Amino acid sequence: METGGAGRKTVLTPKAVIHQKFGSKACYTIEEVHEPPQNGCPGLAIAQKGACLFRCNLELPDVSVVSGTFKRKRDAEQSAAELAIEKLGIHTRTNDLTSEEACDELVARINYLFSNEFLSALHPLSGHFRDAMQREGDCHCLVPISVIFAYDARICNLSKWIDPHMESNPYLVIPCILRAAAKLSESLSAPKGQLSLQRKNPYPSEVIASSVIEPSLSSKRSLIEVVHIPHFLDKPVESITLDLSPTGYYLDLIAKQLGLCDAAKVFISRPVGRASSETRLYFAASETFLSDLPSDLLDFKEALHFREPLNARATYLCGQDIYGDAILANIGYTWKSKDLSYENIGLQSYYRMLINKTPSGIYKLSREAMVTAQLPSMFTTKANWRGAFPRDVLCTFCRQQRLSEPIISSVGVIPSSSKSSDKQNLQVTDSKAVQEHANGGTIAENNGQVVESEDTFRCEVRIYSKNQELVLECSPKDTFKKQFDSIQNVSLKVLLWLDIYFKDLNVSLERLTSYADALSIQFNSQRFFQELASYRSFHSGLNSEVQEEISHKSKDLKFLCTYLGYGDSSLNIHGSDSGISPSNGSLVCISYNVSLKAEGVEVRETIEKNDDYEFEIGSGCVIPCLEAIVQQMSLGQSAYFCAELVPREFILAATLNSARILHLLDSSACCLEYSCTLIRVTEPLEARMEQALFSPPLSKQRVEFAVKYIKESHACTLVDFGCGSGSLLDSLLNYQTSLEKIVGVDISQKSLSRAAKILHSKLSTEPNNHVPRTPIKSAVLYDGSITDFDPRLCEFDIATCLEVIEHMEEDQAYLFGNLVLSSFCPKLLVVSTPNYEYNVILQGSNLSSQEGDPDDKTQLQSCKFRNHDHKFEWTREQFNHWARDLATRHNYSVEFSGVGGLGHMEPGYASQIAIFRRSETRRVHPIGDKAESAYRYQVIWEWNSRNK
Ligand code: SAH
Ligand code: MG
Repeated sequence: METGGAGRKTVLTPKAVIHQKFGSKACYTIEEVHEPPQNGCPGLAIAQKGACLFRCNLELPDVSVVSGTFKRKRDAEQSAAELAIEKLGIHTRTNDLTSEEACDELVARINYLFSNEFLSALHPLSGHFRDAMQREGDCHCLVPISVIFAYDARICNLSKWIDPHMESNPYLVIPCILRAAAKLSESLSAPKGQLSLQRKNPYPSEVIASSVIEPSLSSKRSLIEVVHIPHFLDKPVESITLDLSPTGYYLDLIAKQLGLCDAAKVFISRPVGRASSETRLYFAASETFLSDLPSDLLDFKEALHFREPLNARATYLCGQDIYGDAILANIGYTWKSKDLSYENIGLQSYYRMLINKTPSGIYKLSREAMVTAQLPSMFTTKANWRGAFPRDVLCTFCRQQRLSEPIISSVGVIPSSSKSSDKQNLQVTDSKAVQEHANGGTIAENNGQVVESEDTFRCEVRIYSKNQELVLECSPKDTFKKQFDSIQNVSLKVLLWLDIYFKDLNVSLERLTSYADALSIQFNSQRFFQELASYRSFHSGLNSEVQEEISHKSKDLKFLCTYLGYGDSSLNIHGSDSGISPSNGSLVCISYNVSLKAEGVEVRETIEKNDDYEFEIGSGCVIPCLEAIVQQMSLGQSAYFCAELVPREFILAATLNSARILHLLDSSACCLEYSCTLIRVTEPLEARMEQALFSPPLSKQRVEFAVKYIKESHACTLVDFGCGSGSLLDSLLNYQTSLEKIVGVDISQKSLSRAAKILHSKLSTEPNNHVPRTPIKSAVLYDGSITDFDPRLCEFDIATCLEVIEHMEEDQAYLFGNLVLSSFCPKLLVVSTPNYEYNVILQGSNLSSQEGDPDDKTQLQSCKFRNHDHKFEWTREQFNHWARDLATRHNYSVEFSGVGGLGHMEPGYASQIAIFRRSETRRVHPIGDKAESAYRYQVIWEWNSRNK
């Protein structure tokens, strides 16, 4: 699969051309037309009864056209697109011309533009002629060459065809147009020292009279907001207002802002920002540039240089060299009306365009959360992703940076029905090898399990420069069940890497390379820096300054927090604990408000606000401190806290109130003050499914299952391996059991602290109707990996490990199994894990469209894992193999059971469970090292009945 095209030569349909240019802004509406029978022929009328014709109306930002009538909707659409292309002057067939023909066409086109009839045409360029003509004493219509080039697509395409270098150096258009104009010397002239053309003869007065707009229609003065970008980096970018009189030419007004007397020397850049935007940069051609204009135009190329300094910020913004001071404005004429149309461009727009050139900026914009959002560090599921998808962000990035469209290709697709032979080699079960490794204390990397379901998609991304030179390539090994996921994953890898560069331009090549290696990216460093050089050129000065400023401005964050009455952030959660808390993979919804708070200033300035902001917990979708706090909150609670400043451009991109904000930022120490409320928690897919589809919920059934064994065995001590947030330990306290000591181990500190909170409050509560009296004397939570040995957990009466092994790599699951039975040696061990075969039912009932036939293998192979954190999900056969092998090796017996569904029927239980029982004959080795030095786990929380 190839998307986007290097060297693609196919002829595009009119619709495709429109799509390329306008994307979703092109709006096609089909209308049914019932035409009267033709030629009055009655037979035909009957034949046509019921059939109707279609007409298509195509709305584009500045043009709308209506097609003729067609039998097929498709044809009507294509015809409308064709009409629009013609109207817009986008010629698709330029490529067929010889260069001589192209030159002739250019001359003819220029001639037409300066003709009498064009003056009254509805065209983005004709307004310039009318306005220029209205200037006092100028009926010759002096129009800047760059205006002609910018607003007439036909001229633009022809010039580019004549001189392809124009793509990279748009200033070459000047000699090209001057040369064509020279052929029209009878009617046109190019005044020396000005980059403009004018008519030799004035327009006839009747033409002027008929094309000039009635003053009554345009008598309003317009105040237009534009942005001034000085070329000196230490001068601030500022917003200014143009006061345009009804009869003035707006370009003259811009020229004045640039220190020129009129528009004759103004240059206009190509559009900046979004594809169909009319925002452009205006700047002045310097005197030296003009006086250097050679009489012989053939030498123009050599003479084409500017003495004004490069405007680094403006150059970066539009990817075209801009010299001297520049004005950023969205003003112009359209195809729709003769009136001038404009949009105010303030500092916020400027900063949004600026951040829209970096991966994280593009993502933040797509979420309308410039301060709060972050480009997530991983793509988990489509359902949990919010904002623009990684692949779309990458496409925008490439467009904004003037790179070719990224090429994403699928490689090494393994059809799930026929596995390739080399794959098969890996799948041969070599139990002897496994055995040997196990005895040696290590496990083979490939443990010989036959993996039933194959991930079949793997994607690569390649990014080329506009000249089709390879800039970077990312080809990770990861495979996915869905092509969509593999595309998003590989795109995100590239974005994350690019973001490292954009976040810290001083990052060394060495670090960039090592990050690239980690992300399976190869890049051509020379080309990479060359392509993204303009950013470096203005940011290298700016960035260190910004960084310094941030650290300076928030170095007093601690002080500020105290000053504002915020202590430790976790203490600032308000409202009662509803017990519903997010965990990794949950989708949460918050409402929040961020304001800028400055030391010594009472008023807070709101910067960003969202009433309904959804994001996935655990993938870094928002600034870290917000994510950390939301993880500690429960549904309905609110939190207040201070966060460090983010770089200035994000703050300014967020707010319309830049003057106040800038004043605060410049005057004192500032921080971002957040208030946020957790308004919705959607549990991860698996938990949601377990609750919705099982009664009682599957988690409750697992607890009841464990309780049955605890009671039967009169167990006094219990260890829960991978206890998570303590759901089992907590629930056990609701039952009358013989347990005296309960212990939990996990590697997630967040989960452990939640478990501690819950257990602590439960154990400190006096027994009541809901909480029975228990003989529990002690409870401990350890932070540690269950693949590490700690002598304190040896020889418990019962050990549980519920829904944990699938969160480890398969070799780790083997390692754990061996360790627990060889060294921890509990009397009973209960292990549960999802039964992959049951997913057909879970997902079949979820995707209601499919008939759930559990025997259908192909359906099974297309099943997803239940949770994106799962490293594997085993079939019953795979689980039995794992458990039997362990049991035999360590002298345990094993039986199988499960919860959810009916175990004796296909496809078995939803959660499969193995119960290992230590054999009476099993000799328990005396534990060698009970010394504290052997303690690998760290006590997180401890409770003794004495505490009560
Ligand atoms: N047993 C709990 C939690 C299941 S979620 C329940 O049934 O609700 C899986 C848990 O395994 C997570 O909390 C995760 O942190 C933990 N885990 C994964 N690998 C681990 C390891 N090597 N050591 C300890 N805990 C681990
Ligand atoms: Mg799980």
